Amino acid sequence: MDDQIDGRDAVNPLLHDAALRASHYLAGLDERPVGPGADAVTRLAELDQPLNEHPQAADAVLRRLDEFGSPATMASAGGRFFGFVVGGALPVTVAANWLATAWDQNSANPTGAPATAAFEFVALRWLRELLGLPPDAAGAFVSGTTMGNLCALAAARHAVLARAGWDVEADGLFGAPPITVVVGAEAHPTLFKALGVLGLGRSRVVTVPVDGQGRMRAERLPRLAGPSIVCVQAGNVNTGAFDPFAELCEQAHRDGAWVHVDGAFGLWAQAAPALRQLSAGVDQADSWATDAHKWLNVPYDSGLVFVRDANALRAAMSVTAAYLPTTGNAWTPSDFTPELSRRARGVDAWAALSALGRSGVAALVERCCAHARAFAQGLRGAGFAVLNEVVLNQVLVSFGDAQATRGVIEALQADGTCWCGLTQWQGHAAMRISVCSWATTDSDVQRSLAAILRIANQRLRQ
Ligand SMILES: *Cc1c(COP(=O)(O)O)cnc(C)c1O
Repeated sequence: MDDQIDGRDAVNPLLHDAALRASHYLAGLDERPVGPGADAVTRLAELDQPLNEHPQAADAVLRRLDEFGSPATMASAGGRFFGFVVGGALPVTVAANWLATAWDQNSANPTGAPATAAFEFVALRWLRELLGLPPDAAGAFVSGTTMGNLCALAAARHAVLARAGWDVEADGLFGAPPITVVVGAEAHPTLFKALGVLGLGRSRVVTVPVDGQGRMRAERLPRLAGPSIVCVQAGNVNTGAFDPFAELCEQAHRDGAWVHVDGAFGLWAQAAPALRQLSAGVDQADSWATDAHKWLNVPYDSGLVFVRDANALRAAMSVTAAYLPTTGNAWTPSDFTPELSRRARGVDAWAALSALGRSGVAALVERCCAHARAFAQGLRGAGFAVLNEVVLNQVLVSFGDAQATRGVIEALQADGTCWCGLTQWQGHAAMRISVCSWATTDSDVQRSLAAILRIANQRLRQ
């Protein structure tokens, strides 16, 4: 008992210590190299010790975490990390996340966690409005777009088989009518993973060819018969391009197919008036997956799924058990999520949306796109080939052949001013610049561009 009381008394200094260490870490991001230090990464091997036999003081545990962990991180919380379309975390979301962690609520059910269910309910309504989705679509916070795709496709699988007289939740896929799944040739790898998990098959898909920007060619969508699901994309991971939603939805719906949108980052164009024409028609789809941890800049992990036919998502996800409270008409998050027990992801999103407001979200998204255009202009101006139409936040640049491009990327990562990765775009090696963070300023772009040009020019002169 005394131990427990001591444990509680010890909480405050520990949380203060964590806050101090975190503040110190964040304040240092501007000065340190963006990539993790090689020595610090090597030192991580020292963590692989036997589990200590006896307790250790909590402050010593935290100190060790900071000493080993912080120098070995990627500075993706800073303004000059441009890899993987990952985004940062707005300070208000980090703070809200800490407070909600202290609450330690299980966000499955409003009876057990009324506060977090209420914050999520409101955040989901705001998100539907902001993203221009149907007001009565079901929504849920999941771990990321991978899981958002999985949940939406589970709802799709339910609905298209129910229309064929088959109850997939009860009877599984054995003996079920086959489902035709259509994807674009540029569909994200996580979509295939979701298809595999759901028994729809990673390879058992009809692939529609794409154009030079990675957009599905609507005229190549085949006629569909029987249970069918068409998967489209808002925001290609390389080019940022959008599939032609209006045509694809019209054709797919004419044939009775379900249309699912993977909009991990691109769906946020809907929240920015200046970009909304890019995603025109996306609201005609049947389901949508997106991330809050990418462009809304909340901490991991935070993805979203929305499904027009709320009953389809509920049928695929709901859980009942004698010990679980029945909540009557109250909205129950776990009726729509793959998990039962779950952290309060919606709190972070609620905090971001409250702090930014509608105009702040639009400004964040539009500012990232303006930064991407500045990169493209600077690179083109210096004579380098930008391989994509820079319509969103993605820039693909080539520094010559694959070897030259790879060499520039390696040297840039070692230099540490900024961090960009390698990709392949329609047969060409390219450096990919993804601008996705609230923290990126004009000066970050200028500093990064200067480093890229300095390194590229040095190497190409050799
Ligand atoms: C990032 C991304 C995903 C996967 O999202 P996670 O949040 O990492 O699960 C899926 N599709 C696209 C287009 C993405 O950019």
